[in-house]
Amino acid sequence: MAATVIDGKEFAARVRGRVAEHVTRLKDSHGITPGLAVVLVGEDPASQVYVRSKGKMTVEVGMKSVEHRLEADTSEADLLALIEQLNNDDEIHGILVQLPLPGHLDEDAVINSISPEKDVDGFHISNVGRLGTGQKSMVPCTPLGCLMMLRDHHGSISGMDAVVIGRSNIVGKPMAQLLLNDSATVTIAHSRTNNLADVVRRADIVIAAVGRPQMVPGDWIKPGATVIDVGINRLDAPERGEGKTKLVGDVDYESCAAVAGAITPVPGGVGPMTIACLLANTVTACCRAHGVEEPDGLTA
Ligand code: NAD
Repeated sequence: MAATVIDGKEFAARVRGRVAEHVTRLKDSHGITPGLAVVLVGEDPASQVYVRSKGKMTVEVGMKSVEHRLEADTSEADLLALIEQLNNDDEIHGILVQLPLPGHLDEDAVINSISPEKDVDGFHISNVGRLGTGQKSMVPCTPLGCLMMLRDHHGSISGMDAVVIGRSNIVGKPMAQLLLNDSATVTIAHSRTNNLADVVRRADIVIAAVGRPQMVPGDWIKPGATVIDVGINRLDAPERGEGKTKLVGDVDYESCAAVAGAITPVPGGVGPMTIACLLANTVTACCRAHGVEEPDGLTA
């Protein structure tokens, strides 16, 4: 039987709709407008595209969007001073510093200078520790989006075998933590894992976050398993015309979809959920800052 395709685009639109409803409620009942500040240092083209679409969607759900674009040679002291100013700005509830930063800037120092309550990317050391100890925290957007899709599809993932391929701080590790907090049995696989195929074959849930195009073939997938493909890889696609490219994930979609019970496509799976979760995190941060009840189902 063909796998159910988990439509991240449609799911993300629903999440944004719920965020927008909550923003309206915050404005009407409390006179509060949630605000998100995005800081971009340098001119990385991919980062510019992300920042533009984050700003656009922030405005679409009714929130205040502020963008700070800094020169590539901005000093760390100047960047830290801007973050300090945003930390102290009552109209800003979420701060996101677009990564990667130019090499002369210390990413850890910059991220850890963001007030943890406003750290809507969930990368601050205090949020990482809180997530790891099961305390209320800001949760990284991409793994949060994956978790929402899994909960929606399965109801509960308690007791299921989950294999996360990739151990990055941005996706793999927080994903594993979230799955564990939902009582899945979690394995983190990575570039040094022995017999990766066998490890993946025992999984009820496979999360691929590797950054290697179509690395996971269908014969690694247990029949009926749920496959969440985080990878975003751009390949040349001469069949689409000269100079054209296409996006593919970390799993080989056709062969995996033939065996899986459910699968997220690329594009249109995890990707759209990431920005939706950023907006969800900003509303959550705003509610916490003002002691207002948080919306249900928009965080872990
Ligand atoms: P990363 O490069 O930081 O981490 C990749 C991980 O994969 C590493 O931990 C490494 O150990 C593991 N790995 C590498 N080669 C491997 C192999 N042969 N076998 C098993 N494991 C291997 O990448 P990341 O930031 O975690 O991103 C992973 C992918 O997810 C990328 O394609 C990235 O573009 C994508 N991504 C998507 C979103 C989204 O919004 N959908 C967000 C973040 C990242």
